[in-house]
Amino acid sequence: MATTSKKVRWECPNGCSGVLGSTRPRRDDVCRYCLDCSGKAGRLVERRAPALERRREAKSAARVRRVASAKDTIDRRETARHSVHGLDLREVVRMAGRLPALKGAAGVPWELWRGKQWVRSGHAYGNSWFVRIIDDDTPDAKTRQEILVAWQREPEELRGKQSDAVARWRPTEDEKRARQSKAVGVILHEMAHIATGKRHGYKARKDGALKFGRCCQRAFAQWNDRHADLVEVNEKEEGAYRGRRSRELRSSGE
Ligand SMILES: [Zn+2]
Ligand SMILES: [Zn+2]
Repeated sequence: MATTSKKVRWECPNGCSGVLGSTRPRRDDVCRYCLDCSGKAGRLVERRAPALERRREAKSAARVRRVASAKDTIDRRETARHSVHGLDLREVVRMAGRLPALKGAAGVPWELWRGKQWVRSGHAYGNSWFVRIIDDDTPDAKTRQEILVAWQREPEELRGKQSDAVARWRPTEDEKRARQSKAVGVILHEMAHIATGKRHGYKARKDGALKFGRCCQRAFAQWNDRHADLVEVNEKEEGAYRGRRSRELRSSGE
């Protein structure tokens, strides 16, 4: 320590006159003890160094603040990573786990990946699942294409690079809502896999798992019953089956 040459005052708890001593005296250094009081008391009476105590307290308070602010940073980063335009998907998963259709998936470990495009997956594991959700600031493929086409219509002298146009892209309120809806839909879909332990089967071969399909449909309906004001999900987008297969499912009953 660079401060070893500095002296601090060591004071007797009984108010005797103190002494100046090292900030790190040896264990048996006499500055640590009031010899007068020790002689009277018949056992060692230790002196205190208030300056050192204050310094120690300040240090530990600073450490607590540092840890708290590091935790805040991590919390903020995790919240941002789990949010789709302000909708925290961790909360969505908790809400989804309370839907009767998805009770079987409540509390099952899951992971969220963010990327440059929509991909969903994860149902194969049985005891965990994951979803991949597009980054908030990344245009989806269709929007990227529209940006590219718009860029090509610009007069020659105004043309920028496509990447500039993509970088300038900001989602509209409708796009934000659509992304939230899609993210919730993907989550319900994956949780239906976990709740039923079933895959899709193959639509073309008509061997789709009815159990999964029904669970998915019930989960979407239950979500919209309870939470449409927050985010409305579209079963046709993220439900198990579309079109004819979906109608067959419906008429096959609960
Ligand atoms: Zn003393
Ligand atoms: Zn699936």
